[in-house]
Amino acid sequence: MSQFKRHTITAALPYANGPLHIGHIAGAYLPADTYVRFLRLRGEDVVFICGSDEHGVAITLGAKKEGVSPRVFVDKYHHMMKKAFEDFGIGFDIYSRTSNPVHYETAQEFFKKIYDQNLFIEETSDQYYDEQEGIFLADRYIIGTCPNCGNPNAYGDQCEKCGTSLSPRQLINPRSTVSGNTPVLRPTRHWYFPLDKFENWLREWLIEGHKDWKTNVYGQCKSWLDQGLQPRSITRDLDWGIPVPLPDAEGKVLYVWFDAPIGYISATKELKPNDWEKYWKDPETRLIHFIGKDNIVFHCIIFPSMLKAAGDFILPDNVPANEFLNLEGDKLSTSRNHAVWLHEYLHDFPGRRDELRYVLTSISPEAKDADFTWKDYQQKVDSEMVSILGNFVNRVMVLTGKYFDGKVPAEQELPGTDDRRKKILTLYQQAHNDLNQAVKEMTACLKNFRFREAQFQMMNLARIGNKFLADTEPWKLAKEDMEAVAAILNYSLTIVGNIGLACEPFLPDGAASIRRQLNSDLFEVARKQFWQKEELVHVVAQGAALGTPELMYKKVEDADIEKQMERLRKTPLTAVPEAAHAVAATKALKPEIAFDDFSKLDIRIGEVVAAEKMEKSDKLLKLTVDDGLGRRTILSGIAKHYSADEMVGRQVTFIANLAPRKMMGIESQGMILMAEDNDGKLRLIRPTEDVAPGSTVS
Ligand SMILES: [Zn+2]
Repeated sequence: MSQFKRHTITAALPYANGPLHIGHIAGAYLPADTYVRFLRLRGEDVVFICGSDEHGVAITLGAKKEGVSPRVFVDKYHHMMKKAFEDFGIGFDIYSRTSNPVHYETAQEFFKKIYDQNLFIEETSDQYYDEQEGIFLADRYIIGTCPNCGNPNAYGDQCEKCGTSLSPRQLINPRSTVSGNTPVLRPTRHWYFPLDKFENWLREWLIEGHKDWKTNVYGQCKSWLDQGLQPRSITRDLDWGIPVPLPDAEGKVLYVWFDAPIGYISATKELKPNDWEKYWKDPETRLIHFIGKDNIVFHCIIFPSMLKAAGDFILPDNVPANEFLNLEGDKLSTSRNHAVWLHEYLHDFPGRRDELRYVLTSISPEAKDADFTWKDYQQKVDSEMVSILGNFVNRVMVLTGKYFDGKVPAEQELPGTDDRRKKILTLYQQAHNDLNQAVKEMTACLKNFRFREAQFQMMNLARIGNKFLADTEPWKLAKEDMEAVAAILNYSLTIVGNIGLACEPFLPDGAASIRRQLNSDLFEVARKQFWQKEELVHVVAQGAALGTPELMYKKVEDADIEKQMERLRKTPLTAVPEAAHAVAATKALKPEIAFDDFSKLDIRIGEVVAAEKMEKSDKLLKLTVDDGLGRRTILSGIAKHYSADEMVGRQVTFIANLAPRKMMGIESQGMILMAEDNDGKLRLIRPTEDVAPGSTVS
């Protein structure tokens, strides 16, 4: 760390299309904030950069859904997120937004810089077009079946089920998200960034040069490079976004993933208009991106290649991306409202920011996915924050009040050779060693982005403090040896003070409480020494009056937890708006139909007599069905849910008079009916008892 003069720390720009939930916080913002607090405590020169990502189809679709303009839409969520970050105490130096003029300029300049080197490939190709809406369908404007996993609602840029990154032309049965229509192909011209040309350089810089990166990050990058890189389109046909700065490019904007990371640079410019360059161009600046794992490719491969292409920029020195956080054993989901929303937490638990910080850091998904449960939240607050940390500080404060009238007792040498004093000295030495060890480990972990372990070591200081009090039992000595009591409490106050210093990166409100309680003039000096020397320091002065004891944390009521669980159990019909999830939780009812329409359907029961998996498709099973009259072939997209073997011998419900349809060279003569739950899981529909094949359903 010391070879760097300053630090540029970025946290992923959140899409301005919905509120923040604990998954976002645990993924990028809390680790970034903890790290920045640590750097500042060490006196480092830091800028901490973030802002709203306000372009892209996630925004335009979301705005359409809410029936407002993209501008009104991003304004709403930008202010909502900014406020939630502030209320939670995430200490960005700037929380900017990519719709700011300075960002338009910066992104266009960046584009021009690469364009002027003739690096972009300009190409006209056929792309899907929605004739009814009059728009080209890129990214999330188009959905279809994923060629990899068979998910019927994969997006034009990515399948959220299997994570594969896609282009619209790869989708099977594509349809427009806006109108639902099947699109047509039309030629359009775009610019492509030649990522393939950076492959060798990326191997050298990243694969050879950054073996120190976290294994989850390094591994994902390596696998991307091993698959080979392709030129990536960096422009779109949209009317919301940053115009392509070329004379003949009307209607073309920069692709959101091209402009968004440049937002880090624009925000720095906005923050420091006169000397922003040293934070982005001086090799003595350390650039670190905090992100969640879904952004690894963009921050480790694409953005560095862009920076390299634009020239004279520094490259990220580390990208400590986290894995995902789950909630109560299930994926966090905005569309299903399966989430703990930050603004709701802050409303429901006023004055309890530290508690959420503590629990999220203690389960931080640093190496693998982690699970947040309300029960665990309650347990960690009660048995760690209250019983260990709060309790220790309070005991020391109360005992000092009782025996020394709330003044710091004198430090004592404790001369004497009697067993009691020898025992106290031994206990003191042991505690002192353990405490210094914990402080060293804590700082080492903080330097290496291991916040979970770092926080555990911080809490260890209070564990050691409690043990020291329990072993020395000053309340028993009070009658016979007040010098010993003074020594024990003086040292205990020192421990309290050092906890107050150590918890600053993790628990800012708790740290402030300890500062108030100790009321010590030495605090500022002690803080500097503590973070420089990485060992216990003097925090209290003999004879100084302490502040008023405070209860730092209180237990979580069962009723509060029950209320949160109740909220999660309710499945909302009106989902929280988020364009990125076009599929609502429970699907809306289709328009009413007449009985005659229904009676046109010939629904029958058949029995599967043979089944095989279709080659080249993860999704399709080829079923031979006994329909009572003979045998028919039905292709069914259930391979992810049932194996071919499982299907043989089962009764199925199918539509017998559906016009035959050819798929992958085979004619499907009917359609198997399935129940699909909110997660897209398919289950067969069949009679509760076996019936004769060919039985009709009405
Ligand atoms: Zn997929």
